[in-house]
Amino acid sequence: MARCIVLLGPPGAGKGTQAKSLARQRNLEHVSTGDLLRSEIASGSELGRRVQATVEAGRLVPDEVVAELVAARLDRGGDLLLDGFPRTVAQARVLGDLLDERKWPAPRVVALRVDDDEVVRRLAARRTCPSCGPQAAAEDCVQCGAALLTRPDDAEGVVRERLSIYAAQTVPLMAYYASLGQLAVVDGSGAPGDVARRIEEVVPA
Ligand code: AMP
Repeated sequence: MARCIVLLGPPGAGKGTQAKSLARQRNLEHVSTGDLLRSEIASGSELGRRVQATVEAGRLVPDEVVAELVAARLDRGGDLLLDGFPRTVAQARVLGDLLDERKWPAPRVVALRVDDDEVVRRLAARRTCPSCGPQAAAEDCVQCGAALLTRPDDAEGVVRERLSIYAAQTVPLMAYYASLGQLAVVDGSGAPGDVARRIEEVVPA
């Protein structure tokens, strides 16, 4: 039977990097709702045009929009690692229903805990290569040499908005999943390799 792992954590917690590493280790398909929305925006699709202003302002797009993107991924089958969904208790309930309808087991949820100061420092330094993804370099991609980009929603004021939305809307998810006995909290500070090992300890092979 297919399974679903959820990775939670504040913006800048290293979720994307850890998700890629865990997906490789555990043979899961990495589904990032942020990446899906950014590629809709980049392609100029109707959906992309509808959500662009919201995403760039660091606010949450409507639940139905992300639920539809995730449902389409569930319907393709295979074990999934969800990164960036659910972000609210309402979305967690939707995910529960989507999994129930497909007779998938309840998700295993891993939450990364990182201090706010570290999050702000990491986001200010975050750069992404359009082809190779996030990295620690300053200007050019260490793999392909392309110029690195910053995300519009990593601007300082927008980061503050995203952190306050995280505190108000996503933190309550921890209590929700803890009450269901599905939550493991992992220390997200320190070197990415150390964090990856801590995550692997709580995600069965
Ligand atoms: P991320 O890459 O996960 O930081 O997501 C970037 C942006 O995409 C967020 O700030 C939201 O605008 C939007 N987004 C991603 N996932 C969701 C979600 N589950 N619910 C609502 N908005 C989302």
